[in-house]
Amino acid sequence: MPENILIAIAWPYANAEIHVGNITGSHLPGDIVARYHRLKGNKVLMVSGTDSHGTPVTLAADKEGKPVEEVYKRYHDGFIELFKGYGISYDLFTTTHTDNHFKVSQSMFLALKQNGYLFTQFSKQWYSPSSNRFLPDRYVEGTCYICGFENARSDQCDNCGNVLEPEKLINPRSKEGGALELRETEHFYLDLSKLEPDVKQFLRERADHMRDTVIGESLRKIESEGLKPRSITRDLDWGIPVPLEGWEGKRLYVWIEAVVGYLSAAIEWSRLGSEKEAWLEWWANPESKHFYFQGKDNIFFHTSMWPAELMGAGEQFAEIFDPPSSPLQGGKRGVKLTLPYDVPANQFMNLEGQKISGSRNWGVWGRDALTRYDPDALRYYLTVNMPEAKDSDWNWAEFVARNNNELVATWGNLANRVLAFCYKNWEGHVPDVDVSFGSAQDALRDTDRNLLAVIENGFVTVGAELEAVRLRSALGEAMKLATAVNQYLDVNAPWTAIKTDKASAALTVYTALKAIDSLKVMFSPFLPFTSEKLHSFFGYETTLFGEQYVEEIQDSLGTHLGLRYRAVGQIANLSYWKPSDLKPGQKLNQPGPLFKKLEESVIEEERARLGK
Ligand SMILES: [Zn+2]
Repeated sequence: MPENILIAIAWPYANAEIHVGNITGSHLPGDIVARYHRLKGNKVLMVSGTDSHGTPVTLAADKEGKPVEEVYKRYHDGFIELFKGYGISYDLFTTTHTDNHFKVSQSMFLALKQNGYLFTQFSKQWYSPSSNRFLPDRYVEGTCYICGFENARSDQCDNCGNVLEPEKLINPRSKEGGALELRETEHFYLDLSKLEPDVKQFLRERADHMRDTVIGESLRKIESEGLKPRSITRDLDWGIPVPLEGWEGKRLYVWIEAVVGYLSAAIEWSRLGSEKEAWLEWWANPESKHFYFQGKDNIFFHTSMWPAELMGAGEQFAEIFDPPSSPLQGGKRGVKLTLPYDVPANQFMNLEGQKISGSRNWGVWGRDALTRYDPDALRYYLTVNMPEAKDSDWNWAEFVARNNNELVATWGNLANRVLAFCYKNWEGHVPDVDVSFGSAQDALRDTDRNLLAVIENGFVTVGAELEAVRLRSALGEAMKLATAVNQYLDVNAPWTAIKTDKASAALTVYTALKAIDSLKVMFSPFLPFTSEKLHSFFGYETTLFGEQYVEEIQDSLGTHLGLRYRAVGQIANLSYWKPSDLKPGQKLNQPGPLFKKLEESVIEEERARLGK
């Protein structure tokens, strides 16, 4: 029975280019796990999008002197190009600036309100008389009243890390210039304290399979500090309007609506397809497994705030979103939204021993790196170096060494040299050996059977690591198996045997090819581009994966691009995650190298780009 798997990945803010730390933090691990489950024949839905609202985006637009809409779209289109280039196979990568997302977020707000989890309260906020508006937190800076840091944001101090109360800021100044005064303003608050027992219970039920770093940032934090009410509206003109009369000019705070994106993107995805209500298979299904891939700075939102929203909205969400008058199966009753299964958040990746920084141009930028390196070479290094348990470091010397010694020497050369040798000496076909397993005619020797048994077991061991989202270990395990095939070839040396005993060389080549054919599947979630190429060298007419494409989507707010994925070329509902049953005599296609060796000079060239 196929499982429903939701792969929900952090929504990048539309105010900065994506760097390798972002890719290895959430997008790449999510993609690897999605591809693994697709190979297993599970029903995968992988979604994310651009976080288009929020003050970081309006600040970026103000700085450029351009309309917010134009700036967010430029980043959004760039993200799509990047994810397509890296093979991050989103079923839908959309944006929060769609009428669907507005409606889903507003329904969530109304459901929380109906269920008694919202209250209103007045607070003081900085107001600019000259521009006639309340200023968002990030527009006001001043001296931190806790540590004395002079450039604290009004809501948070980057020096001591404390969340600040804006009205207590010392010597406040507006980033726009001009005078500031404190004025009263009314906002909605989510009463998280009411939901605290439910959130704790939710986390305790998952504590055995969630990473310790994740439980530390959520369950243990709530046990010591508790959950406090949090404001969920803002005085802003960019964002999602509060859906109530008398609240014009106020918007939903970005933290509460951006996480709703996982749900709204699933709905948008299903309404773009033929099965308009397909989202319910993931979202109204307690058996469905939801994985949230995040950087460590976002743990709390996904382990605590988002589950609180989902539990607080309850069955009222679907009733409000699709009322009886709705043309699409309106009048839904009893739809309980599925809670997260795991939040496999990663730590951070640094670069050459320092924090990645946009302002200092200390970074390896996703799209730029693709102009010089193949996506699988980058994916490989980002996986072996993934910050799963602690911060990791991108080091150019290590990138070159790992590429040349592991990807090229251990795996790429293995596949290439056996295929090329076979193609040349067996007229472009797999050797036609007798492999009616277990029968008297089975020509395979113990050495061949032993190797194939070791490789076959890899589907269990590599699979178990992938299930548990231990991706470094999964890839390391697959690489160990490639080494085992190399050792088998050293012992059986078909290149020499062929001169005296072609039948024995044929058995070795057949066995090695079968092992490589299996390893190709195990490597494919990590290295989809070269695995697909290798798959075609074997002469198969199917593909391992479907294809990515970009779609222009129109709604009442205008048009936006969506990155999509469709399963074509695969045999539907069939598990590819199993040992090869390579047919003796199968026709091959002309093989070629899979990876490129990198020159040592790359190290100095790349280091010279940093900080300029
Ligand atoms: Zn401070």
